[in-house]
Amino acid sequence: MEFEQQLESMQQQFNALKQFVAHMMEEHQTLQTENLHLRTRLEELLAKEASVDPQKAELKKEPVDIGEGYDNLARLYNEGFHVCHVHFGGSRKGEDCLFCLSFLNKQNG
Ligand SMILES: [Zn+2]
Repeated sequence: MEFEQQLESMQQQFNALKQFVAHMMEEHQTLQTENLHLRTRLEELLAKEASVDPQKAELKKEPVDIGEGYDNLARLYNEGFHVCHVHFGGSRKGEDCLFCLSFLNKQNG
């Protein structure tokens, strides 16, 4: 009887572990997709910036100027990603973020 209970408990633990792994794999997939999306966007933005101002192309490795980058950040935010320092690059999952909004407000003013 005791052995049967132990077996059952192990089965439950195993199921919980399986669920955890499945969840992690899902999370991993989401992050990969997000990462790819951000890379693509970054390349697009850098290419655009280079075509607008060839001198900038040489400074490509410098961080994007916050003032000039405002439109890009606002667009990134509108596409559903965080631009705040708290969650930068993460998906907003369809929710507004106060950090992002106050950050964008500051850049705009
Ligand atoms: Zn945010």
